Amino acid sequence: MTTPRRAVSLISGGLDSLLATKIILDQGIHVEGINFYTGFCVEGHTHAIRKKDKQKEKRNNALWVAEQLGIKLHIIDVIDEYKDVLLNPKHGYGQNLNPCLDCKIFMVNKAQAWAWMEENQFDFIITGEVIGQRPKSQRKETMPIIARESGADDRLLRPLCAKNLPPTKPEVEGWVDREKLYGFHGRNRKPQMALAAEFGFTDYAQPAGGCCFLTDKPYSDKLADLWQSRGSREYELDDIMLLKVGRHIRPKSNFKLIISREEGETHYLKGYKNEYLTLQTISHNGPIAMIDGDPSEDDLLLAARIVARYGQGRDATQVEVEFRSPTGERTQHKVMPLAAADLNPEWHV
Ligand code: SF4
Repeated sequence: MTTPRRAVSLISGGLDSLLATKIILDQGIHVEGINFYTGFCVEGHTHAIRKKDKQKEKRNNALWVAEQLGIKLHIIDVIDEYKDVLLNPKHGYGQNLNPCLDCKIFMVNKAQAWAWMEENQFDFIITGEVIGQRPKSQRKETMPIIARESGADDRLLRPLCAKNLPPTKPEVEGWVDREKLYGFHGRNRKPQMALAAEFGFTDYAQPAGGCCFLTDKPYSDKLADLWQSRGSREYELDDIMLLKVGRHIRPKSNFKLIISREEGETHYLKGYKNEYLTLQTISHNGPIAMIDGDPSEDDLLLAARIVARYGQGRDATQVEVEFRSPTGERTQHKVMPLAAADLNPEWHV
């Protein structure tokens, strides 16, 4: 009896990591999953908040993948460590503020540090990468960079495109059979979908959602605006969570409004009422809004007029708006809702 080899698989919750892990499990390897939480993850946040997304199943896709495969999943919070990856990416950003290549290197390195630890004792790492699938981070030239700079070297195996790459240690040592690995490449996802069907997976996460907000242009614009307005690129978890919620309007450089777009977001923003100045129309139904920044008295009246514009009193001559300070003091103001023509489109972040 020989002890089975052990692999750790980076599980994002998408189809590729599901397939890559399944391929290796089917070769009799003991696999455990690892999922890194950066704070920018899409799933289980916006969909969990917004009422219009109530039809969508609220699940953590990484956990769902682990459950489908019958493997253990380790979810690791890397929010603080990830800041350096986002703020100082050695290999730069993709189309938006997504530092994908540095992110991959960071995650493989973290997985490697975790997996090689004495008590964990894993032999190699699996990822669901496919050559040519992402223009910046998943190219033939970047594959060795990730292996080298992460420190995983030839213990990093990509089962979906392994046949297009030099053999890794698990293949050379015969721990896995290279012939049973794949040679996928390019952006066409049909081969993966066909393989999923072959394995009997039908309900996997659709790739269109993306794995993190950093690839999303509106989100990246809001993050850049936050940094610029503060004169610093520092951020906390709450900052990046709030960028996922509501309509963000910056009428002036010294303050920004975050206005809920529907009931689910209203409930979510209420959770911040003891940290931010909030306002809401009381004479008519309307959204809740939060103010981030340092507004003057005149700015507050402008803010009230903007918020009134998004409520049911938008056509009224006067709307009453209540401000609530973080310590609970309330003041009311009667304002005229801002006319549509006066709402400068450039204020929308
Ligand atoms: S999309 Fe986000 S999580 Fe995925 S590699 Fe790029 S930066 Fe990292």
